[in-house]
Amino acid sequence: MESELSEPTYITLDDNLWGEILEATNGAAGPCFQCGVCTATCPWGIVREEDFTVRTLLRRAQIGSLEKVESLWLCTACAQCEASCPRGVPIAEVIRGLRYLLWKRRHVLPDLPTTLWSLYWNNNPWGQPPSQRTQWMGDLEVPLFDADRHEILLYIGCTPSFDRRAQNIARSLVKVLKASGVSFGILGEGEPCCGESALDLGHRPYFEELANKAVAVFYQNQVKKIVTISPHCYDVMQNEYPDDAEFEVHHYTQYLASLLQNNLLSFQNPLNHKVTYQDPCFLGRRNNEYDAPREVINSVPGISLLEMDRSGPETLCCGGGGGRMWMETPIGERFSDVRVREAASTSAEILVTSCPFCITCFEDSIKAESLNGLKVLDVAELAALALEELT
Ligand code: SF4
Ligand code: SF4
Repeated sequence: MESELSEPTYITLDDNLWGEILEATNGAAGPCFQCGVCTATCPWGIVREEDFTVRTLLRRAQIGSLEKVESLWLCTACAQCEASCPRGVPIAEVIRGLRYLLWKRRHVLPDLPTTLWSLYWNNNPWGQPPSQRTQWMGDLEVPLFDADRHEILLYIGCTPSFDRRAQNIARSLVKVLKASGVSFGILGEGEPCCGESALDLGHRPYFEELANKAVAVFYQNQVKKIVTISPHCYDVMQNEYPDDAEFEVHHYTQYLASLLQNNLLSFQNPLNHKVTYQDPCFLGRRNNEYDAPREVINSVPGISLLEMDRSGPETLCCGGGGGRMWMETPIGERFSDVRVREAASTSAEILVTSCPFCITCFEDSIKAESLNGLKVLDVAELAALALEELT
């Protein structure tokens, strides 16, 4: 019997659009030879029956089509696909470029304009009033940055400033820095948003505006060394701010590791716990920093660090990057549900990470999965606990 031929799918090609896509993506999709490794390695394949067809998006970028590309909002910019791509295509960057073209056409998910408007009006993506930016401090006294007196600017960032759970990370880090005797200050209500949310949502021009404003504030304050709490702030300052910026940027785990190496910090209080560590994508795969957080964890007496099967460069994304923090992910499709099960299977009592987005995703998933024996802590919180006097 003759098999029925399926209708071919036609797409419309448009030279002008092709040029626009080439410009927005910097032509970076060009070397893709459609092997499909990106689709196969993307973590959406773990949680969804229907693949996130990354390869097809790359094809669209090559031929100049924006038809059926809405799935691009799924990307968490975790860079898992990029690590395996035989042609070295900066896939997440191509997806950001395509997202920008959807912004230009006002074809975006309904909640996303609110996030960008909040950046505009509130200087943060959380929809919180700018006057609340220093609420995280509670009773702590932290001086405003003064270039003559302070070695580092502690850049708190929007999530540890406004998110109640993440505020404890900022307070913990302040305690650890104070214990080391290092001189540091903050910008308080004058702290600018780093702009990462705008970039991850694909709006590069607005990101550049925010980044320029932030750089101007840092220059005005004669900042020479910045220590960030979030790997997302670290990533944009390190990789997306102007190359000639006159300040250096460190993630706080790197800074604490250097204090430990120089005997300026030590932990006395043993914490007899089994822990496992989540490499945040934006610190690990995107910035190749796997050692510093582990140095800090291993310097706490009594801690036993158990690695998950997928760790280091193979880490499984929590699902919060790529602007996904500002989008809804249905139950059953959350990478973090899978990850907390992996953490629990190591028999660790604490899942430690060094990113506020990971903390939010994991704590939600621990509740959803009823893994009540598993706690989530940031490296800074673990370090602060290891400083406290035993009672
Ligand atoms: S892995 Fe790289 S070369 Fe292969 S389809 Fe994906 S982007 Fe193209
Ligand atoms: S960056 Fe991560 S989420 Fe985005 S396409 Fe690649 S593997 Fe998938």
